[in-house]
Amino acid sequence: MTAHNPSGWRPAMGEPGEAASVPTRSGDRALMLEEALSFEIGSPEKCGVDLDDANVEPIAGLGRFLREGAPDLPGLTEPETVRHYTRLSRQNYAIDLGPFPLGSCTMKHNPRLNEKIARLPGFADVHPLQPQQTVRGAYEVIAQLADWLMTLTGMASVAMSPKAGAHGELCGLLCIRAAHDANGEQRSVVLVPESAHGTNPATAAFAGYEVEDIAATPEGRVDLEALKARLGPDIAGVMITNPNTCGLFERDMRAICEAVHAAGGYVYCDGANFNAIVGKVRPGDLGIDAMHINLHKTFSTPHGGGGPGSGPVVLSEALAPFAPLPFVMRDAGGAPYLVEEEDGATDHPHSFGRMAAFNGQMGMFTRALAYMLSHGADGLRQVAEDAVLNANYVLRRCEDVLQAPYAGSGPCMHEALFGEAGLAEGFSTLDIAKGLIDEGFHPMTVYFPLVVKGAMLVEPTETESRVGLDRFIESLRSVAERARNGDDSLKSAPHFAPRRRLDETQAARKPVLVWKGEPGPSGQGAPSELGGQ
Ligand SMILES: *Cc1c(COP(=O)(O)O)cnc(C)c1O
Repeated sequence: MTAHNPSGWRPAMGEPGEAASVPTRSGDRALMLEEALSFEIGSPEKCGVDLDDANVEPIAGLGRFLREGAPDLPGLTEPETVRHYTRLSRQNYAIDLGPFPLGSCTMKHNPRLNEKIARLPGFADVHPLQPQQTVRGAYEVIAQLADWLMTLTGMASVAMSPKAGAHGELCGLLCIRAAHDANGEQRSVVLVPESAHGTNPATAAFAGYEVEDIAATPEGRVDLEALKARLGPDIAGVMITNPNTCGLFERDMRAICEAVHAAGGYVYCDGANFNAIVGKVRPGDLGIDAMHINLHKTFSTPHGGGGPGSGPVVLSEALAPFAPLPFVMRDAGGAPYLVEEEDGATDHPHSFGRMAAFNGQMGMFTRALAYMLSHGADGLRQVAEDAVLNANYVLRRCEDVLQAPYAGSGPCMHEALFGEAGLAEGFSTLDIAKGLIDEGFHPMTVYFPLVVKGAMLVEPTETESRVGLDRFIESLRSVAERARNGDDSLKSAPHFAPRRRLDETQAARKPVLVWKGEPGPSGQGAPSELGGQ
């Protein structure tokens, strides 16, 4: 932390002699503005609001919560506050600024139409405890979205309430457990391939199962023979991602499902990558029993930073009876209504229980349905085709400069996987990711999946144009070539970002959560307790 300076700005960070550190009076670089912490800029003489004095008569019941002095607020005027947060927001990279090539995340353009629809007062202002007859329109949205999801997946039923992909996995596994319980069976193991998303084994463990790996073949797919050899009376089910996290379609899915069913287990499919096959393949036709759909990936809607998400779970005939409440159904006349109670009198007496207090993420439902209706069935099919085409374009245009371990296994699906073999001694995937930041791109997913050393997983999505992809590819190729040729300047990248390369281990293991800088000009320092270290 640099010493306080009266203007509130910090000098630009850079190494001596580098372009980035050419001094400016303000410490800023053109429109790249440095931003101090709010209490470094502030002073107690200033305030954006009028606050009452603290010395009022004690109020019964408030106890030690009565304020005794000035509140520990940064002393900022309203314009200073607005500029502070606006400046910080400009240091962020966002999907509206450029592509987010994160594999396994599906960061696509979010049509503004969806936002407009989700903000209609009739959707945005409904309350989950409103009487049913006042929210029939909202139920109609949920029911129509459910119809689309069942049609697109060829599945019997869908549980709408899970709030994210991982929550959907839990929902699916709880359905599987309820089904085994109903059959009077005790099964303790869930099989998960080595390449699975981290949430899969975590969910299985959370649901109380032992997790065992299934080996992959050299082409990056589930080893069917290894799987069959492990099946038996202790296997509750398997969790398979299709398309998988190596960006490949699991061609043996039908055979996998048949084998697992013959052994009395169920097949959970991680459907986070459904955008690669929507309109092309119906998971129900492959024999899958449960699959979550990340509405916030496949069907657009902004996500990141932990939310908001929505992870409805489509279910086979076998698992449908165990789905969580509440449940939107249609009556004989087609009108949607809510099944709320778990008792013999309802249409849904075998539910395993409840995943969420209410119906799920209404805003996400509305956005996803708007996306489906605006694309139509043929448009959704084209989403899958374009996503796959774009990923194969990236794969084929970069495979001569980056190791492409599964390029020989045929076309990839919606994401292209590279590894770090072939880079100069001492250079790694991390250097490529940091070099991309200087090029003005958010890096791709790195070091995942674990089956490839120094994995780089690029998902362009269908929403990037040919011109946009070419720009990204040229930058990626250039950075990859620097790493192959041992260009030392890459080792200290990024050079042009607001912050230079961090010691990431140190940052993760010993995050500095307490501000220890200089107090502001008038002696008012930081709030003394920002949190532990
Ligand atoms: C994103 C993702 C998940 C988890 O979904 P969340 O909505 O983040 O909980 C699970 N599996 C795969 C393959 C994913 O890409």
